[in-house]
Amino acid sequence: MARTFILVGDHYQLPPLVQNKEAQEGGLDVSLFKLLSDAHPESVVNLEHQYRMCEDIMLLSNNLIYSGHLKCGTPEVAVRSLKIPNINGIKQHHHSQIPPTPNQKQICLGTSQGRCWLRDLVDPSAKTRLVNTDTLFAPALDETNGSRIVNPTEAKLCTQLVEAFISCGISARSIGVITFYRSQLSLLKLNLSRHLPDLEMHTADKFQGRDKEIVILSCVRSNADNHVGDLLRDWRRVNVALTRARTKLLVVGSKSTLRDGNELLGKYVKLVQDRGWIYDLPKNALENHVFESDNLMGSTQASSVHGRAAATPSPTKKSSPVSAAGRKSGVRKPLSPVQARLTPQGLRKPAKKGAKLMSGNKVLGNRPVLQDVVNDLVG
Ligand SMILES: [Zn+2]
Repeated sequence: MARTFILVGDHYQLPPLVQNKEAQEGGLDVSLFKLLSDAHPESVVNLEHQYRMCEDIMLLSNNLIYSGHLKCGTPEVAVRSLKIPNINGIKQHHHSQIPPTPNQKQICLGTSQGRCWLRDLVDPSAKTRLVNTDTLFAPALDETNGSRIVNPTEAKLCTQLVEAFISCGISARSIGVITFYRSQLSLLKLNLSRHLPDLEMHTADKFQGRDKEIVILSCVRSNADNHVGDLLRDWRRVNVALTRARTKLLVVGSKSTLRDGNELLGKYVKLVQDRGWIYDLPKNALENHVFESDNLMGSTQASSVHGRAAATPSPTKKSSPVSAAGRKSGVRKPLSPVQARLTPQGLRKPAKKGAKLMSGNKVLGNRPVLQDVVNDLVG
């Protein structure tokens, strides 16, 4: 028997997936890590230094979840910035000349002729932005078909962003596309199939423990009721999505829906607003550039995806007795980070003097990846 054992983890990210209601109500969705952290707060050492996110990106989760305790591991990490091999590559998406039509305002001729939203968002100085779809001429509304939810306009915008990055010489391997909805994921994979498998597109759950230079997050939910759904309401899932990018995080979504969706998302919108990090898309953003594959999925085609995306949940892993308890999740409301912060179990300063801080990369590199079965089950 060992006299000392050490658990490494972060219970502010996704919890064990427990699908069995009985097991869930019995508390099996609370990890051993959280139980021990709560029971023995004096034994918890917080690793405050992270080596992934540049300062602007870190600021989001630091403000929203970690009560300002996170720090960049080195000054180099803090100022980290995207390297773009060839920014002029974006020109291939511009019309070479003004067509003789009355709709000149419908096209982008590049920054020399005014604002270019693609150029603005690709620019390394835009380290994180909420790319607001509310300002589009045709609202980018979500579409529901049973429990399947997609946002075809958002899928097109994400597709155009990915294509723009790749046109500027960035490897598809450096880009990750995240969405909370499997139907939306199917749509994105259809649109961007030519970049598979280098370009990785997953649900937030599957990205846990991993990172990418650039992350584009499609929020999907955008509606008159400002309803964000259960997936976006889970602050731990949102935390995972906001902490995957190293130098650029573009969150594509509806400012109004996110703002009124719940407390955490409202705080997120206020935070990015205060920082000047909201990017209102021009009303014709969807149509004003040229793309080789302009056969991007529209809403009509998207309806077929609803059916196709109805993937059977993958078998539950047997690696741990907790995660192996398989059944529907999403019944219990996760604690809000505000509540978590007010309890004595919130983030604490390292209890022991002289405790060595470990490298964030070493810790995060081996985190087990949770399954995203829950996406199939929760509307
Ligand atoms: Zn342009």
